[in-house]
Amino acid sequence: MEPATVVLYPFLAMGHLVSMVELAKLIHIHHPSLSVIVFITPEPYETGSITKYVSTISATTPAITFHHLPTISLPPDFSSEFTDRAFGFPKLYIPIVHKTLLSISYKSTIKAVILDFISNAAFSVSTSLNLPTYYFYTSGASALCEFLYLTTIHNATSKNIEDLDMYFDIPGVPPIHSTYMPAVMFNRETDVYKNFIDTASNMAKSSGIIVNSFVGLEERAVETLRDGKCVPDGPTPPIYLTGPLIASGKQVDPDESECLKWLNSQPTKSVVFLCFGSMGVFKKEQLKEIANGLEKSEQRFLWVVRNPPPEDQSMSSLGSKEFDLDAILPEGFLARTRDKGLVVKTWAPQLAILCHDSVGGFVTHCGWNSTLEAVVAGVPMLAWPLYAEQRINSVFLVQELKVALALKMSADGFVNAEAVEEMVRELMAGLEGRAVRERVLEMSVKAKAAVDDSGSSQVDFFRLTKSWNHHDKSLNSDF
Ligand code: UDP
Repeated sequence: MEPATVVLYPFLAMGHLVSMVELAKLIHIHHPSLSVIVFITPEPYETGSITKYVSTISATTPAITFHHLPTISLPPDFSSEFTDRAFGFPKLYIPIVHKTLLSISYKSTIKAVILDFISNAAFSVSTSLNLPTYYFYTSGASALCEFLYLTTIHNATSKNIEDLDMYFDIPGVPPIHSTYMPAVMFNRETDVYKNFIDTASNMAKSSGIIVNSFVGLEERAVETLRDGKCVPDGPTPPIYLTGPLIASGKQVDPDESECLKWLNSQPTKSVVFLCFGSMGVFKKEQLKEIANGLEKSEQRFLWVVRNPPPEDQSMSSLGSKEFDLDAILPEGFLARTRDKGLVVKTWAPQLAILCHDSVGGFVTHCGWNSTLEAVVAGVPMLAWPLYAEQRINSVFLVQELKVALALKMSADGFVNAEAVEEMVRELMAGLEGRAVRERVLEMSVKAKAAVDDSGSSQVDFFRLTKSWNHHDKSLNSDF
């Protein structure tokens, strides 16, 4: 018999894959006798970055096996919409995952199957094979409170969330207005809504939920989850907080990055960094407001700008990589701000930038990886949520965790130059900015302590791996 195995089944978007691979690395480091297999499907949306990332990890951590599931032909009516595809892909892969898990289990004891919550379709497969199945939740414990409570909200009303104008009183987190819920949850007739409800209900039945956060950051949410208050009509599985799991390994060479070189010449904590995740795209009018606001704020800035979508397209377009910054920003802006700011196209080494001494603030879309990176680096945030669960994250960051300031935006998410000017200045030089800076520095210390020996995340990690032996009644020895 080959060594016992743990199977991880991530969703193939960088923000999901990286944190799960960090978990895989932890499993390997602390339990080298276990075989760690990560399932890789083709990307639901081709970005090119996944292939490069997987080959880098394979080269640097060969003990992690990436098992590439075969390419399948997609049905002609397969949705082109991002979230439908995200949940749809794992459904198409059910027979293949079944066959693959079976073939692994002939040779080795599968101790655990860990599913990204978007790979939910595999839950029925792994549980039908009697395999202990865990979920990996790539957002924080506060968002998990909301996620698990979805089934309660669903059962309490027959209306669509978009037709409700009310605050949800979700245990463990501040009240959340219905308009702040993830847009994919607005209409209960959609497939994506049904997928979320099904996932929330399966999560509650799973062997455990692993959360990419740490107790010190979200104490109230963690306590509420563990008290079972977010699943009022049944038991809550064990909750393991093993984060922050953020990209580690290869550091950016400071000589290679234009951004880091530029930061080296800026005073300490003087630069506000603006970056909006892997999919944050603004229309031209919004870019102009940001530029004008930044200029008037008189703060130093480093701003990552994506090409705006053509007029007839929605926010989901990532825009092409080749474009002329001068053509999309206000006339003369780049020349006028040359001494104070740097604008880079499309992508920048975010974690290295946040960790640079010259950075003193971060305007963020509130993606969870970005949030954790800012917390680890001790950089206060200005919350500018765009998509997915980012609006609720912004509520948690501002009202509960107090590591971010809020930005005034219109109902459709538009922010004018005056609001950018006022809040960027407040973040960098105001009293409220100072309060969130102190708080995030406190959290940064806690984040480091959580992953140290005997820190809360390490304790939870070992509780998790210990549970794998409890499930396997046939084995007496620990791996
Ligand atoms: N990121 C980066 N450079 C960029 C934009 C994003 O390095 O220009 C990284 C960022 O450091 C984070 C991830 O991409 O690790 C974004 O994940 P997050 O969960 O914040 O947002 P998502 O892209 O999933 O919306």
